[in-house]
Amino acid sequence: MHLLFIGSGFVGTTTAAAMADFGHSVLLYDIDANKIKKLGSRDRGQIESYLFEEGLADLLIKHQKRVSFTNDFAQVSASLDHIDAIFMCVPTPPQKDGSTNMSYYEKAIATIAQALGQRNKGKQTRYVVLINKSTVPIDTATYAYNVLAAHGVKNVGVVANPEFLVEGRAIEGNLRPTRIVVGADNKKDFTVMRRLYAHFLKKKDVLYIETNQFEAAAGKLLANYLLFSRLMLCFDVMGRVSESFDNLQFENIRKIVCSDPRIGFWGFYDSLYAGGSCLDKDANSLAYQLKQKKANVDIIKATIKANHGQLEHFLARIEKEAGMDVRGKVVALYGLAFKRDTNDMRNSAGGFVLEWLHKQGAAAVRVYDPSVAAEAIQALPIASSLPITVAKNMRDALTETHCTIIATDWPQFKTLATLIPKHTKKGYLIIDGRRSLADALGALQKKGYPVLAVGSPFFPAK
Ligand code: NAD
Repeated sequence: MHLLFIGSGFVGTTTAAAMADFGHSVLLYDIDANKIKKLGSRDRGQIESYLFEEGLADLLIKHQKRVSFTNDFAQVSASLDHIDAIFMCVPTPPQKDGSTNMSYYEKAIATIAQALGQRNKGKQTRYVVLINKSTVPIDTATYAYNVLAAHGVKNVGVVANPEFLVEGRAIEGNLRPTRIVVGADNKKDFTVMRRLYAHFLKKKDVLYIETNQFEAAAGKLLANYLLFSRLMLCFDVMGRVSESFDNLQFENIRKIVCSDPRIGFWGFYDSLYAGGSCLDKDANSLAYQLKQKKANVDIIKATIKANHGQLEHFLARIEKEAGMDVRGKVVALYGLAFKRDTNDMRNSAGGFVLEWLHKQGAAAVRVYDPSVAAEAIQALPIASSLPITVAKNMRDALTETHCTIIATDWPQFKTLATLIPKHTKKGYLIIDGRRSLADALGALQKKGYPVLAVGSPFFPAK
């Protein structure tokens, strides 16, 4: 099939790469010319400098004959004569009141609708489905149909096909999903979508769920909210219990609680903040939509508050419990990606830590992250007000610093348990926002290193 992707960010590019792997031809369109140049370069270094996802560069290079990138809308218009499906993969960021900023989507659909009306020399003979991959408000399919109708588009269906990818494992998730959700309102669209996902229809381990568009969109928002709420239960209840009593090791508590299959382990990892572009945003969107319907949103609001509260609580402990005033200090910060295996810094704990350090009057920060490009770090707005040095390696980040903060769960950060005592003096404060050093807290303490870890009481140096 011939597929068009509007928006070649995380979702657009990883989905398109997987579709190319299934044998479809894909054209990716984005308004960001630099992104198109890098992703379309067929060069691993350039691709990964923009979008670091395990396996993505391999697929884009392997299937280069079936994958094209453009930022020229004329090329998109020309392609519409033979396109079968259009994936809408544009951003839907949050607004201050929690509602979804639909301006990217609105602009993109208006542009594509205008062009669709001209396809096949205006005859519009070819049937096309417009697929909402972006996470959108529940009633968006109705809006999309209205825009298409207003532009006189015929022979078109609107489908909701929400994305459940996990950043860092997006390619794996697209090639081997556990579920595919297709929301449509007519047989023809379900048939198109079955052709598109033919690869999975007979796979016993993939649940292929067909619903209407509204259920598909609501299911996505609810799934993200429930994942988010588990993280908050971990932070605000399990983590708090482990921090409040001596002799409780968070990992042991977790084992006891989560080995009940009715509870399970997912989400029960203590952390200074649940970042990323989706969970907080989707919870806000759900709350906003429910409020419009005059439904109670207390629990959703409390969940959102708990995440920000967790960050504030953790950072406040640095002075309150560890006695460190960061004013005038040089701080080593490990991790700016919102989690391991990605270079995505959107809504990341590390980003908030930088802002907090600036507010507290820290003198400078040395940052190390194995995946985020130095230029991307230096381009952060905070870099104009807080002196930030991008360290070459983990050792380099420690140079002449007063304390270390771990903000991303990269597995290599566990080695800080040996690196720090080797290269810093006794009394150097370690602030572990990811429990990367959970197994070494007592040993570090005995070596003379105070450790403040999320999910543990403060470990003063012995
Ligand atoms: P992204 O910011 O990485 O990518 C979006 C791209 O769309 C950008 O490259 C942007 O330049 C482009 N764009 C904006 N307006 C455009 C237009 N008019 N025409 C063409 N391109 C345009 O965002 P993302 O992470 O890929 O997310 C996209 C959507 O998918 C969002 O709704 C998000 O909530 C949802 N989603 C994201 C994830 C995730 O983990 N990132 C997971 C599931 C769903």
